[in-house]
Amino acid sequence: MTLHFPNMAESAGRTLGDEEVAALDRVIRSGMLNSVWGTEARALEREVAELYGSRHAIACASGTAALHLSVVAAAPDPGDEIITTPITDFGTVAPILAQNAVPVFADVDPADGNLDPDAVAALIGPRTRAIMVVHLFGAPARIGELRALADRHGLTLIEDCAQAWLTELPGGRYAGTAGHVGTLSLQQWKHITCGDGGLTVTDDDELARRMRLFADKGWDRAAGRSHESLGLNYRMTELQAAVARAQLAKLPWVLESRRRTAAELLRALREPGGEREETPGRAELVLPRPDGHAWWLFPLVLPGGGASELAAHLSAAGVPARAGYLREPLNQAPLWDRPVYGASRYPLEGYRPAPCPEAERLVSDTLLIIDWNEHYTSEHVKIIVEAIRSYPAQP
Ligand SMILES: *Cc1c(COP(=O)(O)O)cnc(C)c1O
Repeated sequence: MTLHFPNMAESAGRTLGDEEVAALDRVIRSGMLNSVWGTEARALEREVAELYGSRHAIACASGTAALHLSVVAAAPDPGDEIITTPITDFGTVAPILAQNAVPVFADVDPADGNLDPDAVAALIGPRTRAIMVVHLFGAPARIGELRALADRHGLTLIEDCAQAWLTELPGGRYAGTAGHVGTLSLQQWKHITCGDGGLTVTDDDELARRMRLFADKGWDRAAGRSHESLGLNYRMTELQAAVARAQLAKLPWVLESRRRTAAELLRALREPGGEREETPGRAELVLPRPDGHAWWLFPLVLPGGGASELAAHLSAAGVPARAGYLREPLNQAPLWDRPVYGASRYPLEGYRPAPCPEAERLVSDTLLIIDWNEHYTSEHVKIIVEAIRSYPAQP
């Protein structure tokens, strides 16, 4: 019998249990499901702010909503540019378009798919307003360099931590606290979940004020029925928040467990002291750097290409692995050839994203991802190692 690999779409691959049921029972019996008048979402915000050591946390409907709030906080004028990565969920980019700003895709580091600060620096111009960095798959991006760039040019630095709950930065702080705003997701496939949900964290009172207003129809509840600014309804419900609070209590174990099995896999794949495995007769692999990694997924890079062949080999051995992560990087999405707002493309007339050769090569040839899960055991790791070791060299 083959060993089952638990995944995030089933109970065996999640940490949902009696605590979440009790939380929902509590909220439903209270009669108040809306967070404007309830207590759960505000409590979740306090708990996340405390965990992250941030002055503010703002709960909202999704990770995409959290990113939209952070773009609103950066306050681009229509046509202003926001530099971001082409290897991410579309939730990073959609909010830029929603605010009539222009996404500018910078290329990535071929070793881990995270933004290359030099590529970002080369794209900063008079209309640049913000940088949105993603800690891809849970690996810390080069945030110190990006923060220095943002400070030098007066830009807002937004950290998309949807895949990076408790990712640690050099110095020990969590990803999400090195920029001006950090965002988190509670969607089904993230480290912890309430189905859908999001949070932003920030130390900046003014950015927090803008985000709170935008998430609640521009309505300052203390001032009466009066609207200060454009806003949508991005509120998290009490049901989501109650489940998220129960999940938050389990987050340290989720990370500890993912880190333990990922370290086992790294140890098995690594030659003593080296980052590269160049065993004759096997495909050359670049292993992920474990420092601070949250292991949302376990990525491998094959500098010589052939990720889809290795993915097929691993899948055949029962290991949940895929090549590329995306069908195409977001700079090549079909969207850019079409109208965006009704029949109009304003302010994107004539806009075409520039090529990002490293990102394109990762997605088409060199990036392999293995699904990761806190319920994996050493047995799962052993099967993965055997499957990789049994893969022949590329011709
Ligand atoms: C999941 C994800 C999002 C979007 O979050 P949702 O909660 O699904 O809206 C944004 N960015 C990244 C990197 C993600 O992985």
